[in-house]
Amino acid sequence: MKLHYSIDSCAEIFEAEVVGSSLDIITHVYFDSRKIQQAKGALFFALPGHSRSGNEFIESAYKQGIRFFVIAKNTSVKFQADAVYFKVQDVLGALQQLAKYHRRQFSYPVVAITGSVGKTTFKEWIFHCISDKFKVVRSPKSFNSQIGVALSLLEMHESASIAFIEAGISKSGEMKILRDMIQPDYGIFTAFGKAHRENFANNEEHLLEKWVLFRECRLAFIPHTFADLENRLPINFQVCEAYENHRFPKGYSGMLGVLKTFLAYLQFEPEEIRERIDSLPTLALRMEVFEGINGNTIINDTYNLDLDALSEALIYQRQLAPEKKRIVVIGLSEKHSHERLEIERLISSFDPDEFHFIPEGKSIPWENFHQAVVLVKAHRDRAFEYEVARGKALKHRTIVEINLSAIKHNVSFYQSRLPKEVKILAMVKASSYGSGAEKIAPYLQHAGITHFGVAFADEGVELRNAGITGSIVVMNPDPEHSDLIIEHQLEPAIYSFEQLDEFITALIHRKTSAYPIHLKFDTGMHRLGFAPADKERVLAIVNSQPEVRIQGVYSHLADADNPNQNTFTQKQLAIFDSIVSYFRAHTSDSFLAHILNSEGSLRYPESCYDMIRLGISMYGYTENKALKPSLQASVSWYSSISQIKNVPKGDFIGYGCSYEAPEDMTIAIVPVGYADGFRRSLSNGKGSVFIHGIKCPVVGRVCMDMIMVDISSVTAKVNDQVEIIGVNQPMEVFAKAMETIPYEVMTGLSRRMHRVYVEE
Ligand SMILES: *Cc1c(COP(=O)(O)O)cnc(C)c1O
Repeated sequence: MKLHYSIDSCAEIFEAEVVGSSLDIITHVYFDSRKIQQAKGALFFALPGHSRSGNEFIESAYKQGIRFFVIAKNTSVKFQADAVYFKVQDVLGALQQLAKYHRRQFSYPVVAITGSVGKTTFKEWIFHCISDKFKVVRSPKSFNSQIGVALSLLEMHESASIAFIEAGISKSGEMKILRDMIQPDYGIFTAFGKAHRENFANNEEHLLEKWVLFRECRLAFIPHTFADLENRLPINFQVCEAYENHRFPKGYSGMLGVLKTFLAYLQFEPEEIRERIDSLPTLALRMEVFEGINGNTIINDTYNLDLDALSEALIYQRQLAPEKKRIVVIGLSEKHSHERLEIERLISSFDPDEFHFIPEGKSIPWENFHQAVVLVKAHRDRAFEYEVARGKALKHRTIVEINLSAIKHNVSFYQSRLPKEVKILAMVKASSYGSGAEKIAPYLQHAGITHFGVAFADEGVELRNAGITGSIVVMNPDPEHSDLIIEHQLEPAIYSFEQLDEFITALIHRKTSAYPIHLKFDTGMHRLGFAPADKERVLAIVNSQPEVRIQGVYSHLADADNPNQNTFTQKQLAIFDSIVSYFRAHTSDSFLAHILNSEGSLRYPESCYDMIRLGISMYGYTENKALKPSLQASVSWYSSISQIKNVPKGDFIGYGCSYEAPEDMTIAIVPVGYADGFRRSLSNGKGSVFIHGIKCPVVGRVCMDMIMVDISSVTAKVNDQVEIIGVNQPMEVFAKAMETIPYEVMTGLSRRMHRVYVEE
C-alpha cells in the first residue's frame, strides 16, 4: 500500500472531527493491531468488532507506535498528546470513503469480479494470463468483503494499468456499498454455486443483488449459463460462450469461457489465448487427497496459504477422519515468515496433534508420520509439490478419482425426492463399490447419513475403525463371524433358522440382550432370506428370546429398474407388505422396514417404508434415463502415457501377434491392464481410452499391467493424461464395452490403484 494523504485531506474525506495535529503523511492503513508491521505513516481504523472490548486494541496499536487513529465518535479513549484521532460516525464507512476517494484518483480500468464461487480462482487466472502485458493490481488473498474490498482498492497505484477487485457479499444490500467504492468499468461474473446462500430469501434475490455491482459498468462478462436472462438484466453485458478444456472439470467451462472472451476483449490473439488457458494453474481448484506412506492420508493444498483457505482446510482435515491423528505441515518461505505467528495462532485453535513449519531448504519428515491425516499447506512460490510427492505411497500411476461432491449431491437429490421421514441406508459394501469405504463412509456420516450397509462382517469392522458410529447392517454375515459382529456392534441380517439359532447362542455366551438384528425375507428373488411362510416361526423365536430385538425387516427386489417387470415387482412388494403388517401387529419392537434399492426408490416411492438402501445411484449411476441428468458421476479413472512408439505398416503389436498395423501408426503404452479391471475382452478395438478428448482404440491384446492404444490421430507426449472413465467415456459406456454393468466395473477396480478424492 502506497498512499499519500495528509491529515487535512483525510479529515475532509472522512468528514471527521479531528483531535490532535501532525504534518506527517499517511501511507498505509491497519485495522487489526496484531498485524502491525510498520507503524510510521500508518492509520489505524478501530473497527467495531475488532476494537469493541474496551480500547485495548487502540492502546496496543499506540504502544506499537501507531499515531493516527480513526475512532467512533462515542468511543471513550484516552487521547495521547502525540497522536491524531479522527472521530467519525462510522469507522467502516470512513475506511470505505477513503477507498472510494483513492480509487477515483486513477483512470485505468477497474474490473470487478463477483459470483458466488470462483472469484479468487478467476482473479489468479487472469493475473496468470495477462501479467506480462499489463501491470496488474489485484485484491490480495481472497479480500472481497466490506473491509477487504476497501483494502484492495487502497492497493491501487499510479504505475498500474488495470485493477481486478473481488466483490463478495453475505447480506442483501451490501453490493451497492461495494459498487460505490469500486466504481467498476468492467464486470466479471464467475459462476453461481451453492455457497453463501443461507442469508438470502431465494436465488433470484441473490442474483439480482449481484447484478447491482455491474449497474454502471461499460460492459459485464457473464457465463453462457445465464444466456436465458438475456432480456431481463438491467446492465450492459456480453454472454460468453462455454470453453471446454480437458484439464478442467466440466463445471469450469463457463468460467473459462468468460476468461477467453475477456482476453479477446483485451486484444489477445486466439493463439495466445489458447496457450495461456492451457497453462493455467489447476491446483487452485480443489484440495487433493491421496494415500501416503505409513498409512497416512495426505491433503495436499499447496496452492496458497491465505488464512481463509487455511481454516477451510483445517476444518476439512478434521472432518476427513475425526478419529485419526492430525498433523499440519506448513511450508513457509522466507518471504512470508512474518505470517508465522498468525498462522500458528489459527492452527492452534484447531488443536492438531502436531504441527510443523518447514523452512526453506528443509524437508517434510514423512518417516515420522504414521497413520495420520497430514494437511500440507504452502505458498505457491514455495514449490512444495516435490516434497508432497515424497509422502505419497508409491503405487501405480493409474488412479481412480472419486468426486466426493458428486456423491453428496446424489444423496441430497434422493433426500429431496423422498418423504422427510424416510431414512437412507448408504450401501458401502465391497469397499463402497470400489471407491474406498474408509473414505466414503466417514464423508457420508459427516453429511448426515446414520445407516450403512455392508456385505460381510469384516467390512463392518473396517467402518468402525474408520470412525463410523451409526448403525451398520451386515447383509450376508458368515455364522463364524458372530463374535466379530457383536464386538463391533454391527447389526446382522438374519436369513435362516440355523443362523438365528447360532447368533442367539453367541449372544447368550456374551450375556447380551436386546441385540439389534435385521430379518431378511426372500419375496421372490431367491437369494438369501427366510421364506414368507416362515414369518410366524421366526417371530415366535425372536419374541421368546430376550437376547435379540428386531431392528429391521427387509427384502430385496429382483428387477426394480425394469418397467416390463412391474407386475412381478408389485407381487414382491405385496408379499413384503404382508410380512411387515404381520410383524407390526405381533411385536412391540419398533423396527425399520425396507425393501427399495436405488432404482426402486424412484419407481415405487409409495413403498419406501422407513428406509431405502441407496447404492449405485449414490455413486451417480442409473439405468433410468429420466433420472440420469439429476445425478453426478463420481468415479473417473485415469492413467498416463508411459511410452510412445511408431509402428511401421505390417508390424505386429502385443501378445499373440493378434494385431497387424494396417499402415504406419503411432501407439502409446498405458500402464493399466486386466489386473486393474481393464478386461482382456477389451483387446483389439473392443475398448478405447481418451487422450486429449480424442478416442484411442486398444490395439493388440490387453496385458496384465499394460495396454497399447492407437494415437495416430492425437498429438500426445509421454506423461499426458489418459482417460479411461471420465467425461469423454462415461462409466456406462465403458461398462457396455466390457459387456457388463457399472457395478462390476466399479468393484473390479483393483486395490493397487491409488484412490484420489476430490471435492470441488
Ligand atoms: C447392494 C444392495 C443394495 C443397493 O443396490 P443398488 O442397486 O446399488 O442401489 C440394496 N440392498 C441390498 C440387499 C443390496 O445387497
